[in-house]
Amino acid sequence: MLEIKYIADLVIAADNAGKKISEIVWQWECEQSGVLAESIWEKMQARLETIKISAYTGKQQQGKTFNGLVGGDAYRMAQTDQLLGGTVTRAVTYALSVSEVNADMGKIVACPTAGSCGIVPGALLATAELLKSDNDVIIKGLFTAAGIGTVIAKNASVAGAIGGCQAECGSAAAMAAGAVVEMMGGTPRQVSQAVALTLKNLLGLVCDPVAGLVEVPCVKRNGFAAAHALVGAQMALAEIESVIPADEVIEAMNQIGLALPSSLKETSEAGLAKTSTALSITARILK
Ligand code: SF4
Repeated sequence: MLEIKYIADLVIAADNAGKKISEIVWQWECEQSGVLAESIWEKMQARLETIKISAYTGKQQQGKTFNGLVGGDAYRMAQTDQLLGGTVTRAVTYALSVSEVNADMGKIVACPTAGSCGIVPGALLATAELLKSDNDVIIKGLFTAAGIGTVIAKNASVAGAIGGCQAECGSAAAMAAGAVVEMMGGTPRQVSQAVALTLKNLLGLVCDPVAGLVEVPCVKRNGFAAAHALVGAQMALAEIESVIPADEVIEAMNQIGLALPSSLKETSEAGLAKTSTALSITARILK
């Protein structure tokens, strides 16, 4: 029976078994749930189908959401590639797309949450296109991401209301970075380095949604965080190492989340939610 509490446990289990972290997480899920391995794979396959639909439909929509705050940005991003290069541009586009579908009450996969639902899909789908890889590679990436997210949830939180946006978008970016490293052929240690590097640089991010809606700053933040995940993955693949190991970064995030005031944890009582523009929007929406 696998005993996984930390990222280090995932790395050790993978190295000892000569397997990838995705395989360890798949086995771990089988053991925890008592569900057959094939059934778990099929469930993840179904999640991928939902992810793809949200990623491909959102970027074709040019209209605004019901409240008029967001919408059409994935479409705009998909029309241009002057600066970032194809993979980063596609990651941002897909992340915006899935996030806009969520803001428009469409069906998404919360990975780990609805507010951060675009980041893992954005990074993984863009990487799969770069590699011209099939669904199996993306599904394995989703297992890796799920394992990382589970460890973060065990030792800290993935909820903005508990840990601020570092816990939602920070965790999602770390999940995506680790998964991308494995998809690119990186080692379990490089996966853990990607988690550390990526999460470390989103520590302290507060949750301050305008009018309490998961739209501003959430949708665009998903786009940024998908690009951030790719940077973390590339650094790890280049053998750049975080001085602070992944599990200590996760504990630091936990402590920062505890120290954040409740006004910056999804209550919309501070930060961007209290700017004059946000207050005008809130008054209009609540009228
Ligand atoms: S700002 Fe808050 S609601 Fe928006 S994505 Fe971040 S944690 Fe979620």
